[in-house]
Amino acid sequence: MISALALAESLPSMGKAPDVLARLVHVGKIYGAGEHAVAALSNASLDIRAGEVTLIEGPSGSGKTTLISILGLLLTPTSGEIWLEGRNVAGLGERALPPLRARNFGFVFQGFNLFPALSALENVAMAIQMKDPKFKKPRDEARRLLELVGLGPRMHHLPADLSGGQKQRVAIARALGGNPPILVGDEPTAALDTKTALSVMELLRELASERGRAVVVVTHDPRLERFADRVVRVEDGLIQSISSPSATASH
Ligand code: ADP
Ligand code: MG
Repeated sequence: MISALALAESLPSMGKAPDVLARLVHVGKIYGAGEHAVAALSNASLDIRAGEVTLIEGPSGSGKTTLISILGLLLTPTSGEIWLEGRNVAGLGERALPPLRARNFGFVFQGFNLFPALSALENVAMAIQMKDPKFKKPRDEARRLLELVGLGPRMHHLPADLSGGQKQRVAIARALGGNPPILVGDEPTAALDTKTALSVMELLRELASERGRAVVVVTHDPRLERFADRVVRVEDGLIQSISSPSATASH
């Protein structure tokens, strides 16, 4: 008997590359309607592959957050397809999306979004438990993830007692809870000084190269390009170019 997953994986429309984890095809988003309609994104097509860091760059208001939110199933597109787990999930209803989102994505935001009254360990453990209430020993898993991001010695600290870079590492550990294949960040380094931003990006690079995660990061900062396999340039709601800055660099 062929499992549903094996069958899904064999769908020709996902292409031959087995490492394409998500694919956007001609995705568009119009906010509002009538006179107030804003075409925030048009005709965006993009493959997200395991082991790759993809940067999404562009001016303010160009559609970066819209693009990454559609990819992460946080926002429904007006048109186009979102391929995930071997099928187009763009038309799925509200009830089907949360488990799909939880299985596939970990999120990291500019503002960290940690619970101030919970320690680093508790923040991560709670996220693991929310993703999977039946998860055995979420605190052990949280400890493992905090060690992975280099925060083992500070796991019992409250967010207020951590630096910005440390808070973002907690947020990354939390995003890794449940082992999602794709990490999505909307300007995760924007609140950090340059040195810290680079070290957080280095961690995301490692998670891609050594742990096979697909990392997709929105940024304003061209200095992050050296960590990227691909840079997607968005302007006025259109993908203007997709380039490979580090094609000849080693990482
Ligand atoms: P970026 O992240 O690149 O700054 P966004 O994706 O947030 O850009 O926004 C793209 C465009 O869509 C902008 O013109 C913005 O004003 C508009 N927009 C974003 N969110 C909404 C919304 N909820 N309602 C109406 N317009 C929106
Ligand atoms: Mg934005």
